[in-house]
Amino acid sequence: MIDSEKYAAATIVARRDLAPDLWVIRLRPEIELPYRPGQYVTIGLPQNGRMIERPYSICSAPTEPDIELFIERVPEGELSEPLYALGVGAEMVVRRRTKGLFLKDAPVVDQPHMLVATVTGIAPFVSLMRTLATRARAGEWSAVPVTALQGASRSEEFGYAEELTALDAEFPWFTYVPTVSRPWDDPSWEGEHGRVEDVVRKYADATGMRAGHGAVYLCGHPGMIAGARAIMRRRGFDDKEIREEQYWPD
Ligand SMILES: Cc1cc2nc3c(=O)[nH]c(=O)nc-3n(C[C@H](O)[C@H](O)[C@H](O)COP(=O)(O)OP(=O)(O)OC[C@H]3O[C@@H](n4cnc5c(N)ncnc54)[C@H](O)[C@@H]3O)c2cc1C
Repeated sequence: MIDSEKYAAATIVARRDLAPDLWVIRLRPEIELPYRPGQYVTIGLPQNGRMIERPYSICSAPTEPDIELFIERVPEGELSEPLYALGVGAEMVVRRRTKGLFLKDAPVVDQPHMLVATVTGIAPFVSLMRTLATRARAGEWSAVPVTALQGASRSEEFGYAEELTALDAEFPWFTYVPTVSRPWDDPSWEGEHGRVEDVVRKYADATGMRAGHGAVYLCGHPGMIAGARAIMRRRGFDDKEIREEQYWPD
């Protein structure tokens, strides 16, 4: 019996597969689920008489009717494995409240922004960029430079490269930089090579980020977060200028 005070039903209304272990779903909850860019929804599936729940950052903008999620299948993962088996029309439950403080203060007025992600860590930044793009098109956003860096092993894993590249072309204040760490698996790749933390310093220099002048947001892999944080600390950034959303423990 599902606790209806805690959970609401949600149906998968679309699915896009990117790689054998990466996919995007759009979920339609039976209730309104308000959120800000940077927040997450907690999904649950009953497994062997227990509710298995995990948080997932929301990619959609708050004005969209469905909740979009970008998910990695973790081998033998308690939730992501059974979730991967679900297609359009399948049901799950969501917690009735979204949560998270990650991008609470974004965008910070008058500061260049650096958004750094590994693979699915791009999710909250997609939500933010969709929101900023709508505001910019309506003339309601006086732009500051925003640079999004995304690392992945191969280019098929970026998930939102087409959308973010189009926003980069539309808005002079936005730069999207994908980088692949296994270019030998991806011979046609012509973009940046190396892990995302390897390009942080270069783009921090290019966008004039310096201590007291720059907001840094790191999302995804704990190793990337530790590495990028150390680089920004060495540039004089203090911890309150570096926000992070770590997807799993070190
Ligand atoms: C705030 C927040 C937002 C998140 N947003 C997303 C998101 O947008 N997309 C997404 O795919 N995941 C996201 N996660 C991770 C997600 O909540 C689950 O941890 C993940 O799906 C694995 O759950 P599982 O039950 O399949 O694996 P489990 O059975 O819980 O874990 C198996 C092991 O894998 C490790 N692990 C967890 N995730 C990964 C990973 N991606 N790669 C390698 N090892 C991992 C765990 O530490 C654990 O040791 C987020 C986590 C947090 C805290």
